Amino acid sequence: MSTRDDVLRWDRDHVWHPFTQAEEWEADPPLVIAAAEGVYLIDLDGRRYLDGVSSLWTNVHGHRHPALDAALRDQLDRVAHSTLLGLGSVPSATLARRLVELVARLPGEGAALERVFYSDSGSTAVEVALKMAFQAQQQRGQSARTRVAALQNAYHGDTLGAVSVGGIELFHGIYRPLLFPALRLPAPERPDPVVEAACLREAERIFAAEGHTLAALVVEPLVQGAAGMLRHSPAFLDALMGLARSAGVLIIADEVATGFGRTGTIFALEQCHHRPDLLCLAKGITGGYLPLAVTMTTASVYEAFRGPYAALRTFFHGHTYTANPLACAAALANLELFADGSLLASLPEKIQALERALAALPSAWVSERRQTGLMAGALLRDPPRPRFAHEVCLRARRHGVIVRPLGDLIVFMPPLAMRPDQIAETVQAVGSALAEAWASGPP
Ligand code: PLP
Repeated sequence: MSTRDDVLRWDRDHVWHPFTQAEEWEADPPLVIAAAEGVYLIDLDGRRYLDGVSSLWTNVHGHRHPALDAALRDQLDRVAHSTLLGLGSVPSATLARRLVELVARLPGEGAALERVFYSDSGSTAVEVALKMAFQAQQQRGQSARTRVAALQNAYHGDTLGAVSVGGIELFHGIYRPLLFPALRLPAPERPDPVVEAACLREAERIFAAEGHTLAALVVEPLVQGAAGMLRHSPAFLDALMGLARSAGVLIIADEVATGFGRTGTIFALEQCHHRPDLLCLAKGITGGYLPLAVTMTTASVYEAFRGPYAALRTFFHGHTYTANPLACAAALANLELFADGSLLASLPEKIQALERALAALPSAWVSERRQTGLMAGALLRDPPRPRFAHEVCLRARRHGVIVRPLGDLIVFMPPLAMRPDQIAETVQAVGSALAEAWASGPP
């Protein structure tokens, strides 16, 4: 039986944490989560913390939800994993059907998304979409279409294809020699009509000159989350998607972060008028329980891969745990929980609670509040020392809240199930941590 101290030591000595500088991690005893309940995470010492970033933007209905737990136990009694390479599975077929029905709610122009390709993370969903779009264009005889357009400040994940279309220098810069060059389109940082019009004029010029060389355009609908909750209007996105469609460019919508209610609607694209040709979903798809992702596409894209085996039009891509049945069972239970509409109906009140709490943070310390639905960030004004937002997040733990920064921005991404008073408590805890950090010197 391992003791608490064993676990702390093993973590420090052997675990390489993602997006984490080792020196900083090793400086303090790590916070290790041992359990969870509803919207609370519980550490090795039994202390409880509000999960203010939904365990990296994934959790929807809270932890240890009875319906999700039961769905997993039920699937465990059947089979934990069987491969999708050459075999079907009951949960993956059922989930594909349910997802196709769900995305049929997307309004506007464009074909139905009726094919589901499974993978395991947001990055792989995008990786699949990029390869699929490229290969579809090639196999349709569009051999000049070899490039992909992406927005400034884009973030689509950490595998090399996703990094190629990414535009965050801090994360992506060092890998440039390994990457394919993406065509970069200007993007607004907030829904300002003048800036959006200027970005669109530039995009129009680029599509006129280069559109015929493009296989796909990849976008994060409405919010560029990892870039720091940068926002644009549905009208901007619609105009951009319109330009791509007129130029014969396939539209990849990356709703990895925005999907499953984050922006107030199940999908951000419900607020737009173009359907994408490829839709990437992950994170909240299992309610935050297990790794699963899908890349959904149209009959027309699927058709480009049909033919006798000898024609070698196959999509030669697949991961070992693709469409893991446990993950699919969790996703089905997640969709079931959305089905009666009560969670979505509860969102406006929660979104307002977040807005009010952010507004109450003193403007002496916060220069900007960025929010779309339950995706938000508070930008710190004139931080007095490097890594100040990181320091504030560590202090917030003493007030019973887990949050994470993105640069100088403190991110708030509560599970959709979090109550308005708990959302307010999360933001207030960060306010207290900010006050303490300003009042004291470096820790
Ligand atoms: N796409 C977007 C828009 C994201 O925000 C993220 C992760 O934050 C990803 C892709 C990558 O997802 P994952 O970390 O599951 O690979």
